[in-house]
Amino acid sequence: MLIERNKPIKRLNSWRLGGCVSYYSLPKNKADLMMLLESGSNTKHGLVFLGLGSNVFFPDGVLDAHIVNMKHINQLTLQHDIMCVDSGVTLARIAKAGVRLGMKQAAFLAGIPGTLGGALKMNAGANGASIWDYVISVEVYTDSGLKTLYPEDFDVGYRSVHCRGCSVHCFLSARLKFTVDVVSDAMGYMKMLLSNRNLVQPIGTFNCGCVFRNIPGKSIGKLFDELGLKGLEIGGARISPVHANFIENIAKGATAEDVWALIHCMQDALYAAHQIKPELEVVVYD
Ligand SMILES: Cc1cc2nc3c(=O)[nH]c(=O)nc-3n(C[C@H](O)[C@H](O)[C@H](O)COP(=O)(O)OP(=O)(O)OC[C@H]3O[C@@H](n4cnc5c(N)ncnc54)[C@H](O)[C@@H]3O)c2cc1C
Repeated sequence: MLIERNKPIKRLNSWRLGGCVSYYSLPKNKADLMMLLESGSNTKHGLVFLGLGSNVFFPDGVLDAHIVNMKHINQLTLQHDIMCVDSGVTLARIAKAGVRLGMKQAAFLAGIPGTLGGALKMNAGANGASIWDYVISVEVYTDSGLKTLYPEDFDVGYRSVHCRGCSVHCFLSARLKFTVDVVSDAMGYMKMLLSNRNLVQPIGTFNCGCVFRNIPGKSIGKLFDELGLKGLEIGGARISPVHANFIENIAKGATAEDVWALIHCMQDALYAAHQIKPELEVVVYD
């Protein structure tokens, strides 16, 4: 398997940010992936597993890491009503596969632009549901090698997942169970969720989704909106005029530094108005 040096990373993330990464690999199968996992990496960030790159912030210069692109680790099979899904499978594909079988519960995944691996790491969710609500087991690579773990082995919260007792380096796959609902129109429900999303999010722009986590009981986007921040620009970065918790890279012209300056601006404005220090949802690599 080829290990590339100084690979440009702009096209590997939905914000279209970043310079290059010191090492990059694209494992073709699980055997390749195991080889990488067993070798590890001496870089600052170590092995960084990447799905669609829809929730990461990359720096302008050189990212000292070994990025492992998971897109070919992408088998999806069904065992009765249980889905066995590799971590590189997109959430849209899981949603479609489920909805075709009448699994209305899978529909919420359709609009989240990520892979199963990224969703497991972030506990991705929408419309009142989150991925870990449907996990039966996960196959992970830990300090002591490959393991099968269960939801009770993790502390799972809003956009946060921590393994109790061991350090998980990589999610390889999961078994998911969605209930089959023969009465509801699962496909119609999924389409409805997708069109609702299109009304409230800046579709077709380069962004990472919500930059900050919501505060219990409060929509942080609404607070930014009330402060009049929509449309604020620094360099090529802009707070979305559609959703004030999204930062857009206008015409791919923003540097990571522009985005970072805008992030600080939002944090300062919220602290000055409400003494709230918002936490980042996006995963920062610098
Ligand atoms: C327009 C837009 C809308 C969004 N809407 C939502 C939403 O409604 N709800 C929501 O929760 N999120 C949302 N997001 C954020 C993002 O889509 C989710 O967090 C998604 O789960 C990220 O998946 P990914 O595969 O792209 O992860 P990446 O961005 O590639 O990675 C995110 C993190 O997960 C780690 N990771 C990825 N794969 C693995 C693996 N196999 N093993 C271990 N670690 C791994 C990465 O190293 C990184 O730390 C949105 C983003 C965008 C751009």
